[in-house]
Amino acid sequence: MFYTSLSNPLSYEEKLNQMQEDALFDVADPSLSYGLKDTEEVSIPDPSIFHDIRSKQAPPKVPKVFMSNKCIFNCAYCGCRASHETNSRYCNSPKELAEMAIQQAKNNGHGVFLTSAIYQNADYTEELIIETLRIMRNELFYNGYIHAKVMPGTDPLLIQKAAQYANRLSVNIEVANNSGFERIAKQKNKTNILAPMQYISNIVQVAKQNRSPSNPIIATSQTTQLMAGSTNETDRIIMNLSGALYKKYRLSRVYYTAFHYTHPAKGYELPLTTTPLWRVKRLYQADRLMQLYGFSYDDITPEHDPNLIESLDPKMNWAIRNVHLFPIEINTADYDQLLRIPGIGLTYAKRIIAAKKYGTITHQTLRKIGVSLKKSSYFITCNGKYEGGNLLENPELLKDFFSELDNTIDINKSNNINNCGISNDNFNKNTIVNVNDNYKTCNNSNKIETVTSM
Ligand code: SF4
Repeated sequence: MFYTSLSNPLSYEEKLNQMQEDALFDVADPSLSYGLKDTEEVSIPDPSIFHDIRSKQAPPKVPKVFMSNKCIFNCAYCGCRASHETNSRYCNSPKELAEMAIQQAKNNGHGVFLTSAIYQNADYTEELIIETLRIMRNELFYNGYIHAKVMPGTDPLLIQKAAQYANRLSVNIEVANNSGFERIAKQKNKTNILAPMQYISNIVQVAKQNRSPSNPIIATSQTTQLMAGSTNETDRIIMNLSGALYKKYRLSRVYYTAFHYTHPAKGYELPLTTTPLWRVKRLYQADRLMQLYGFSYDDITPEHDPNLIESLDPKMNWAIRNVHLFPIEINTADYDQLLRIPGIGLTYAKRIIAAKKYGTITHQTLRKIGVSLKKSSYFITCNGKYEGGNLLENPELLKDFFSELDNTIDINKSNNINNCGISNDNFNKNTIVNVNDNYKTCNNSNKIETVTSM
């Protein structure tokens, strides 16, 4: 293909350095989850590369590499945006990026994520990515895992081509409602994001059904990313959208990230804002409840209480809103009922079901099979016996009690939980360290040598 580079390109080393600088932070880093105390019960899903949300296996993380950080779009929150004045733009050639990507994949041992700002136009950028993929597979014989980004509005034929080389494809939904595009990403719209998402979904479904060597398509999963807090949307709106995306496009994962707008961007009249990181944690938990525990978005974020709260995880919050459903008798509860009990997760619900075959379950039995009664004892009876005192009779006290417990969460433990990656206005490493000073790119830049989730 015909490749045009920047007229005054950075050297290879400079590009590499800039790419590392651009990718200092991860956008949807699941390490968010690791500060939570109740990870057993409603652990934030690890983003998977080889597995979807139903996988229990902790997936590896992979590095991201960028074709370019020079974008024709002008998203307010992004350091790659067209209006951002910087001399540190780069655009790799496909050969350069292929070699770089393979080196990063080798260092990491699990794969690589190829991404880019929109360089010149969406199709051209996607062609550069496809050519990179082709070189990696056919000339450099890399046969490991590759996740490739699809640009908004990419032609279906190009998506089809990318799917022949990449294991996973993604296009980011970004905002939770249509007004969000005009507000923070004027060149994006619902159509140029959902159309490729639909097409990827079709390809992936066919590829999953036909895994014969004669089928050239190897992409078998799709993910997306959604920013919280960009349009003052409620969590109910986000959860509703996520549920619809999982259902309609059969996504493997929806990743959540916090919207940070801390430096004014040309063309936007937005108040500076920073979405708190605890909200992203709670969204991941709520997502998991919907995907694995049988909760609906109405359960988690009902109309009269549409937002997740910092002080309680969404499952506990639901239980306290519905104390009339408790206590649940462990010996008669089925699997789905067990999953509604705070403190009992997927593993322990299965263990309880298995243990029932051998006799009556007591509190002692639960302890023996590993169930922590710290939370669950307030919501259960075992053979009629209740050990929760009188807290269940007073939801307000219950709320205070468990809020105290959850206050032990330290969301700042993870230093990887940032909105994006591509850096701050000045592309200055020292200022990027401040979580509030970060920008994001639709392509989720991440430090090259620092592994990142996908
Ligand atoms: S978010 Fe994506 S499309 Fe928007 S300016 Fe950044 S790289 Fe370009």
